[in-house]
Amino acid sequence: MAKILMVDDSRTSRKILKDILVDAGHEIVGEAGNGEEGYQMYGEVKPDLVTMDITMPVLDGIEALKKIKAENPDAKVVMVTAAGQKSKLIEAIQNGAVDFISKPFDNDKLIEIVSKALA
Ligand SMILES: [Mg+2]
Repeated sequence: MAKILMVDDSRTSRKILKDILVDAGHEIVGEAGNGEEGYQMYGEVKPDLVTMDITMPVLDGIEALKKIKAENPDAKVVMVTAAGQKSKLIEAIQNGAVDFISKPFDNDKLIEIVSKALA
């Protein structure tokens, strides 16, 4: 069981992701609707893992990842991606993201990636 912070501007995506993670025994310790909020919240809740959407207003997932990693080099951030975001994904991995999960979510694969990222 891990403490997870979800950062995504889509409430629907957060709801779906939350249900899957809670079912798997994880605890959602925070939900943020953009990268800046996610970055701020990271410092407050100190999660074991962050799920980070890429396309978001105010501050996107890549910039939020960079800010979090700059202050917390051990932070575990899994990117949440939609189709057609390969170059963004490469940039995320280069900036320290541990892995990625794709929308629409495949429950088993998602849980496997989260477990692997936490190991
Ligand atoms: Mg988005």
